[in-house]
Amino acid sequence: MSGELSERMHKEELSQEEKAANRLDTADPGHRHLFHVPPADGGRYQQAAYLAGNSLGLQPRATRDELFADLEAWRCLGVEGHLAAMRPWLPYHELLTGPTARLVGARSTEVVVMNSLTVNLHLLMVSFYRPTGTRTRIVIEDSAFPSDSYAVRSQARFHGLDPDTTVLRLTPRPGEDTLRTADVRDLLAAEGDTIALVLLGGVNYLTGELMEIPEITAAGRAAGAVVGWDLAHAAGNVPLALHDWDVDFAAWCSYKYLNSGPGGLSGVFVHERHLADPTLPRFEGWWSTEAATRFEMSPVARPPATAEAWQVSNPPILAMGPVRTSLELFDSVGMTALRERSVRLTGYLEWLLDQVTPGRPLAVVTPRDPARRGAQLSVRIGTGSAAELAKRLRLEHGVVADAREPDVVRFAPVPLYSTYHDCWRVANALAATVEVH
Ligand SMILES: *Cc1c(COP(=O)(O)O)cnc(C)c1O
Repeated sequence: MSGELSERMHKEELSQEEKAANRLDTADPGHRHLFHVPPADGGRYQQAAYLAGNSLGLQPRATRDELFADLEAWRCLGVEGHLAAMRPWLPYHELLTGPTARLVGARSTEVVVMNSLTVNLHLLMVSFYRPTGTRTRIVIEDSAFPSDSYAVRSQARFHGLDPDTTVLRLTPRPGEDTLRTADVRDLLAAEGDTIALVLLGGVNYLTGELMEIPEITAAGRAAGAVVGWDLAHAAGNVPLALHDWDVDFAAWCSYKYLNSGPGGLSGVFVHERHLADPTLPRFEGWWSTEAATRFEMSPVARPPATAEAWQVSNPPILAMGPVRTSLELFDSVGMTALRERSVRLTGYLEWLLDQVTPGRPLAVVTPRDPARRGAQLSVRIGTGSAAELAKRLRLEHGVVADAREPDVVRFAPVPLYSTYHDCWRVANALAATVEVH
């Protein structure tokens, strides 16, 4: 077949695919109408195909008015807003407790929303990384998000330990991209008595691998370690059952799948079994003491037996508003329905990519098994720069994806607002941008 003919057939095939994508959107519509979708920088569509919700989630349409109402309370009430606002500021954080607990599968006493993610990892490690004797090591993934790596290395130094020997980095087998649970389990069994803390990403930010959280948690705890999870890429992406899975602690941010705005607040989980433990060290402030006696201004804190004991400062109301608005949406749609649509949408993108990658220097590195991934497919490019490719996708096709240098571009079809047509645009843009070799 001549190159020209195959090229033409390719185009005709894709245009049928576009119609098919539109039909799928009619049948399985999602909640895009509840979000602001940015305009496209280039290409022939008005709206961007926004596949970067794993980096920064889109703005829910409800956020602005809700935030404005909190701002109005401050304008009209001044300090009285602590008690007299429509949503009084003093107990404001409690509005987030129920929806947060439902989102991550926790008891309401086990969660609190506060600070930002890396700060919370440090606050939690103050309590849960307690190196003693020869049990000093911290296990992370070699491809952990750099902030997590910096955090655990600085914790090691804080305890007078050498970060190079204290931090044990899990690597996939040679030639593989993702971790095997059995290998993690074997390592924990073999090295267990030297390990104080296991701190892994629930969904790896780079490869999109969803870890087998209950199995690894059980293996880590059986080895005598404390097991914490960074759920930055898991919260709002995959169903979680942190209490039942016996996770010791976890933290996540709210600006990725949770759509609460740039730098949005972080959620924290501490398992019930730790909540009333008076031997746990903890950094405290006036919001760590029980609410009922807080304003007696006692010099000694009386922490409640809840995750709120880890709160240090009074919460930023204007940052909590967007989290509250977003969590209401998750509550009303439900993680089960979201996950079902997510599996369909990501499966569809995978199917489209499988038609585009052969012959091109592109390979999906995310696990093929839907049970081992969330709403993200990471594509490794064999030649050229990932940032350059992402830029061309955006400027020439209006496809917004996220590049991780040197060679990975990440596409996240977010079940709340991404469409089958967005997925088609990704495949179409890759086919037009990356030459067949
Ligand atoms: C996004 C992300 C962070 C970001 O940390 P901040 O403290 O919110 O800036 C940290 N860890 C992981 C795994 C992430 O994906």
